Amino acid sequence: MFDPSKETHSPWHDELDSDRPYKLLINGEFVTAQDERSFPCQYPYTGEFWGAAPLATPKDVDHAVQSAHKAFEQHWGRTRPAERAALLRKLADLILRDAHNLAMLQVHENGKLLSETQHTGQSLAALAHYMSGLAESSVGQASASNLPNTTSYSIPEPIGVVAAITPWNSPLGLLSWKLFPALAAGNSIVIKPSEVTPLSTLRLGELCMEAGFPDGVINIVTGDGGTGAALVEHPLVDKIAFTGATGTGQSIARTAASRNARISLELGGKSPNIVFDDADLDKAIDGIIAGIFSSTGQSCVSGSRILVQSNIGDDFYQELARRVNAMRLGDPLDPTSQIAPLASRAHMDKILSYLDIAQSEGLSPLVGGGRPSDPALANGFFVQPTLYAKVSNHHRIAREEIFGPIGSIINFSDEEDAIRIANDTPFGLAAAVWTESIRRAHRIVPRLRAGTVWVNQYRSGEFVRPFGGYRQSGVGRELGVDALHAYSEMKSVFISH
Ligand code: NAD
Repeated sequence: MFDPSKETHSPWHDELDSDRPYKLLINGEFVTAQDERSFPCQYPYTGEFWGAAPLATPKDVDHAVQSAHKAFEQHWGRTRPAERAALLRKLADLILRDAHNLAMLQVHENGKLLSETQHTGQSLAALAHYMSGLAESSVGQASASNLPNTTSYSIPEPIGVVAAITPWNSPLGLLSWKLFPALAAGNSIVIKPSEVTPLSTLRLGELCMEAGFPDGVINIVTGDGGTGAALVEHPLVDKIAFTGATGTGQSIARTAASRNARISLELGGKSPNIVFDDADLDKAIDGIIAGIFSSTGQSCVSGSRILVQSNIGDDFYQELARRVNAMRLGDPLDPTSQIAPLASRAHMDKILSYLDIAQSEGLSPLVGGGRPSDPALANGFFVQPTLYAKVSNHHRIAREEIFGPIGSIINFSDEEDAIRIANDTPFGLAAAVWTESIRRAHRIVPRLRAGTVWVNQYRSGEFVRPFGGYRQSGVGRELGVDALHAYSEMKSVFISH
């Protein structure tokens, strides 16, 4: 069994109280896994192992789902929206109180920059308030019935037990998109965070208990894909809300289909970031960098295919390369760092393998293309921010989701060519267009097959806008004014007079 006390001890271990025993959250209690096994977290900046999460067994998963089912059936499924909203608002206050701790946990799990993570608490709290408001204002439909002597109406009801399975790149943000609307709509939940980022979710579970959510309403089982599979296969799970890789989502969808469980899937992307010759090229360069290198490229909406009109001259590429070369790789806690390590050694190895693939396809990097040489970064899972120019949309680095700091620059001749290349992908999560022509923007936006489209910006989002993907990027939408619908059944009622 992993023993954190035998590992090295940096100052942040004390701040995070890293030796404390994190436990599964089942039926309102914090418990060890049935066979008492656990797995460690690794800080991607230093390679240090720290903290440990329990490895849930299928029996633990069963216990968690049974508890969620019991809580739903016995009382939670019939609570009033205002009661659920009050609990969510209390949780929002606690999240704000502990926002720094939650941010620090995430940084030490997945290595992301603190500057990118430190607003998670505010964002979660704001979403909890938004979902509380939606719960309280949730409406059904009533209208004059066309039937004789009949009153009819339709009303939303909770689905039952929701399984929320999350990835490691934004563990709390992506969980909150599922947890808060699921609770607001009156469902109970079993959460399975990524094996890379289990502790921040367990800590959030502690805050949920402190907020006063009843036993069994919120359960957390930590573990690997096997734990997730046991959850998906459980017959008492009524809905699965998943964010992760496209292949995993497809396998979950197959299992869910065998018993018609509801699904929401947020999957991969290969998003086009299209720069026209009439764009403000200076801003477009900032947008390209933000598009592909934020979160070290570990973002589902990464602008990983950079489509540049072919008549844009060499100056553009020189300036782009200069700015990328100047990016500072470094300590995630240092506010001047711009590129963080990748989330795990295995993920770094996967990213490096794509550099080999590019080379084998005859491509050479415009900038980057390897690990950094700075010895201070040697223990971290760093890969240089890398761009390849003159890429064809058929090259593997342009077709497959890499999920790292590697962008492919693809040239196009005109609007039609740009739209053709942009849509020539199995994915459809996001896209961006850089142009000073409002007419061109309006012509192109409706033709891009993507769930989010930005014009002259990249990466913004807000709770009122639904988020999700076309095609292989997902099924359904999260957030938006209809967010609760994804966690509700609609019941139609007919009453004779
Ligand atoms: P992943 O699919 O490997 O893992 C995601 C989660 O699923 C983890 O908790 C994992 O343990 C679990 N899991 C793995 N196999 C499972 C199985 N057979 N059954 C049930 N659960 C299983 O993905 P990842 O590597 O953690 O995350 C990266 C991926 O997530 C990328 O493809 C990225 O595009 C995607 N992502 C999508 C969005 C979006 O909103 N569309 C957002 C962030 C990340």
